[in-house]
Amino acid sequence: MSRDPATRSRAYFAGGWHALDRTFPVFHPGNGQLIGEVADCSAGDARQAIDAAERALRSWRRVNGYERGRVLRRWFELMLAHQEPLARLMTLEMGKPITETRGEVHYAASFIEWCAEEAGRIAGERVNLRFPHKRGLTVQEPVGIVYAVTPWNFPAGMITRKAAPALAAGCVMILKPAELSPMTALYLAELWLEAGGPPDTFQVLPTNDAPAFSQPLMADERVRKLTFTGSTEVGRLLYGQAARTIKRVSLELGGHAPVLVFDDADLEGAAREVIASKFRNAGQTCVCTNRVYVQRGVTEAFTRLLTEKTAALTVGDPLLDGTQVGPVVEQAGLDKIQAQVQDALARGARATTGGQATGGLYFQPTVLTDVHPDSVILREETFGPVAPVVVFDTEEEGLALANASEFGLAAYAYTRDLGRAFRVAEGLEYGIVGLNDGLPSANAPHIPFGGMKNSGVGREGGHWGLDEYLETKFISLSLV
Ligand code: NAD
Repeated sequence: MSRDPATRSRAYFAGGWHALDRTFPVFHPGNGQLIGEVADCSAGDARQAIDAAERALRSWRRVNGYERGRVLRRWFELMLAHQEPLARLMTLEMGKPITETRGEVHYAASFIEWCAEEAGRIAGERVNLRFPHKRGLTVQEPVGIVYAVTPWNFPAGMITRKAAPALAAGCVMILKPAELSPMTALYLAELWLEAGGPPDTFQVLPTNDAPAFSQPLMADERVRKLTFTGSTEVGRLLYGQAARTIKRVSLELGGHAPVLVFDDADLEGAAREVIASKFRNAGQTCVCTNRVYVQRGVTEAFTRLLTEKTAALTVGDPLLDGTQVGPVVEQAGLDKIQAQVQDALARGARATTGGQATGGLYFQPTVLTDVHPDSVILREETFGPVAPVVVFDTEEEGLALANASEFGLAAYAYTRDLGRAFRVAEGLEYGIVGLNDGLPSANAPHIPFGGMKNSGVGREGGHWGLDEYLETKFISLSLV
């Protein structure tokens, strides 16, 4: 079912596939081998894409919502039909274990399915006005040309979470995928065209120079929205740039998820969920557990369980079915993980399992105990397979520790006390709370996903995600 791999080295914009003289390499994190060379788009290419998007928008916005939904439905079906080559490509590009990338194809496609169903239902409201001779109504219109910038850690999911609602709403999108995983994005563009997506409604332009490429897109008045997923640092920069042309902005940024394990928790279940949340994608997700707070009465028992389960994880070649933890994506990521672990150990922490890099881009799944409160790992995103454990005494103290972060994306709590579960969920300053649930967003394209504080602006998923691509226009009619 796989298509001509050549299209995965070319960019798609301005009505066609472009092989460019300038290219950049993509490597497999599992063994460092070159997978391919990809077109390196310039600011000039970005300008061409904007002109093409403007033309494409004129007709796409007028296509009936049900018809847009039918194209999306075919895109969804094609993605599922291409599950295996897509999964394999993602694993090759960024090293996520193949069982997870197969799941990601389903997750990514589910946003398209949901938006396909919803496209025909985009409507407005009748508004009663105070004057008997007036009638009011609202209509929902597409925002227009959308510039999307995505990260490497979910090469398909972070794209469809944006593209599906944008295209369902009648917007057109110019996508700049991450330089570490551009080929998956090009594959998705190919499937969109095959599904009947009109030319230039979804353009994909990889580049190795994101700042220069982005400049015309961020400056152009015709680009009416920026949707970004990535680090808080880059999100902040783009937020500032978007202010000049008052673009609509959605930002899905970094996280530093805390977990609270209370004395009354089902410890076996909590350890299982923490493992799932901490070690998937080798700890490289924005909602991955980053701090584990355990109430004093169960610290020893819980740490033992967590250590045993962590030590039992199968680390290895991400292309093998049995692998649970693969490599991290690049050397800079590995260096950061090592620096955080060294810092914690130097401040008195102990590794109850793991603690070492093992060659290539592999780092052992690790549990750290006795972690000093000043440790960097308790403040900065780790993006690696390391779980630092910290003891707390009271519910209030646990909540205060969990909230002591610039981030507010996801948080988790384990307790069997219903009153405590609600108190804690309401007290956590986070956009997503998992109660006895380490994967609250799994298989759920219809829930609001997004963060508070420095974790972002807006939500993706469900009607919240669709609203981000719609303008509400009010129309008043006088009958006299
Ligand atoms: P990153 O911020 O380095 O890069 C993200 C994207 O921004 C890439 O496509 C990159 O090329 C682009 N970029 C970088 N500098 C740019 C510039 N000056 N102008 C325009 N574009 C620029 O992040 P990353 O390392 O790719 O991804 C990891 C980060 O993403 C983590 O912080 C993670 O928490 C976050 N993330 C958040 C969510 C969420 O839903 N909140 C989901 C996944 C990842």
